[in-house]
Amino acid sequence: MTQGTAVVTAVDTHCPYCALQCGMRLDATRVSPREFPVNGGGLCQKGWTSGELLRHPSRLTTPLVRVDGELRPASWDDALDLVARRLAALRAEHGADSVAVFGGGGLTNEKAYLLGKFARVALGTSQIDYNGRFCMSSAAAAGLRAFGADRGLPFPVTDLAGADVVLLAGANPAETMPPFLQHLRGAELIVVDPRRTATAEQAALHLAPAPGTDLALALGILHAVVADGHLRQSYVDERTAGFAEVWRIAAAWWPERVERVTGVAAADQRAAAALLAGARNAYVLTARGTEQHATGTATVGAWINLALALGLPGREGSGFGCLTGQGNGQGGREHGQKADQLPGYRRIDDPAAREHVAGVWGVPAESLPGPGRSATELLDALGREDGPRALLVFGSNVVVSAPRSSGVQDRLSAVDFLVVADFVLSETAALADVVLPVTQWAEEDGTLTNLEGRILMRRKAIDAPAGVRTDLDVLSGLASRLGQPAERFPADAASVFTELRAASKGGVADYSGVTYERLRSGEALHWPVPAEDHPGTPRMFLDRFAHPDGRARFVPVDHSGPAESPDAEFPLQATTGRVLQHYQSGAQTRRIPELLDVVPEVFVEVHPDTATRHGLAEGDLALVRSRRGETTARVRCVGTLRPDLVFLPFHFPGAGRANLLTNPALDPVSRMPEFKVCAVSLSRLEGA
Ligand code: SF4
Repeated sequence: MTQGTAVVTAVDTHCPYCALQCGMRLDATRVSPREFPVNGGGLCQKGWTSGELLRHPSRLTTPLVRVDGELRPASWDDALDLVARRLAALRAEHGADSVAVFGGGGLTNEKAYLLGKFARVALGTSQIDYNGRFCMSSAAAAGLRAFGADRGLPFPVTDLAGADVVLLAGANPAETMPPFLQHLRGAELIVVDPRRTATAEQAALHLAPAPGTDLALALGILHAVVADGHLRQSYVDERTAGFAEVWRIAAAWWPERVERVTGVAAADQRAAAALLAGARNAYVLTARGTEQHATGTATVGAWINLALALGLPGREGSGFGCLTGQGNGQGGREHGQKADQLPGYRRIDDPAAREHVAGVWGVPAESLPGPGRSATELLDALGREDGPRALLVFGSNVVVSAPRSSGVQDRLSAVDFLVVADFVLSETAALADVVLPVTQWAEEDGTLTNLEGRILMRRKAIDAPAGVRTDLDVLSGLASRLGQPAERFPADAASVFTELRAASKGGVADYSGVTYERLRSGEALHWPVPAEDHPGTPRMFLDRFAHPDGRARFVPVDHSGPAESPDAEFPLQATTGRVLQHYQSGAQTRRIPELLDVVPEVFVEVHPDTATRHGLAEGDLALVRSRRGETTARVRCVGTLRPDLVFLPFHFPGAGRANLLTNPALDPVSRMPEFKVCAVSLSRLEGA
């Protein structure tokens, strides 16, 4: 399956996995770490083993077409002809929105850009969204509301080394991106997490709120900041707007009241306020634990309000930021694969944005569709009377990663036509009518934007296996079959990037001054980069925030709790997350023996007393049930876990899918599902 693979040369590149985008050197498939600011020469286990997948025997090297219920090899021409023919027929019969597109936060900037253009121009559909909706959408929405622009970290990661205190809310970088921790060595850590994670173990202060009550905790600390005289009044007066409305709410959340809701001692809330306020340089950072709630945007907003009250954002050496998750989680949300967005981080309902982008694309602005459904809503609508009848998936494995995943599987089975582009037969690809085998990270050139808004070049280091094509090739081939002029959908990354620069010009995420030559020379370019002689913007908001009046916004938010509470039938709460050895749906890392050896299957962390109460012991197989489904998982007893909580990693397929349990209740602003808390029951698996 790997014939035709040949070494091009050893190259300096970046890890294929998370948003830290550690620098590495790739020599054939051998990985070695390389000095780069974000990782300082370090790699985690995933990075060290990432080369193995390039020659993995499970690589797909020929298109597959379903015939008589079975996926069978086909030629590229036959496969692409079939896809184009079926999509054209569905569009002709049911309209453009009968075809939907689903992208991913791991796609390069070029792929994310061309995918959005393909959907809007070649298919004319509004029905496009991506898995970043499950990942960073709440942080993005809250950042836009507060600052007028959303860049995960609006400062370089290396700035964190100068911090005295860092508050990490819902972030576990000790497992998700271990090399990141080197930047926090000099700081006292305040960690907000209901679990005593590897990161919490290193904290000066670990605050463990009841799941789904983080917003109340942020209000309690804000209350303590103000009540104990720590409010940065001059900063609030000069650089912000809206504090009075926020204080009207926070004034009622005194720490003792917050303690009753969250379980976090009032004294600890005051200690956190004092630590932050007493620091010369401090940061507040959030991640998925804060964002993946039906109140995710409000919860991130509550932490931003705290940071603003302390005068941190837009001050050199201090700040607020969100730790992006997926490899191109930042760039993936800037170039138009989101339902509500056009390239340059522009809104799709903004007439000026539509004119600009349509001009670059060479089509009339009125031909561009409007906003479409968000990811969860799109998946839920598949195959329904008014929903899409075909779905094209690029860079995503929704059968494992979407909430209420048994329902997602049903919806995928209900569509007339499912196409998946991937490099292995993921759980989603296995359901497809057509599977298109595509290149991996090291087999193509492309750019990504890391968690600090720095644009990086991932260079081709190795030829792809014979029979494999790039995603850009696939989109170009389909577009021409759908009647688009060849020059409108180029297949080479450099041409796509040149067009992306023009489309982003003048937008919030302006890449117009970024060139492949500048990236290859190693320039550290953080967007916006509005001209080729512009040095980039490593630190945003130092003089003004991105709202027209230059002020940041306090946004009033109040605690309402999770969408679902425990009851007699489902008396516990479950939360989900990652482990060090696996990445996202596990489609890649579950194929690496060294990683699978360490964590071979799904497990459920349970407090020993809770386990005993439910007749379970370490190593037993447990049945975890929620209102949406049930998951089978191996019991791990963890004495530091709250007795009312269980934890499952979400990397595993089949009956071990944590997302069989999760609640698709959506945040009203970001449309983020509530992955981080749902009510469950626990029992011993009969016969196990
Ligand atoms: Fe670095 Fe993340 Fe890759 Fe680990 S997974 S090596 S932390 S980029």
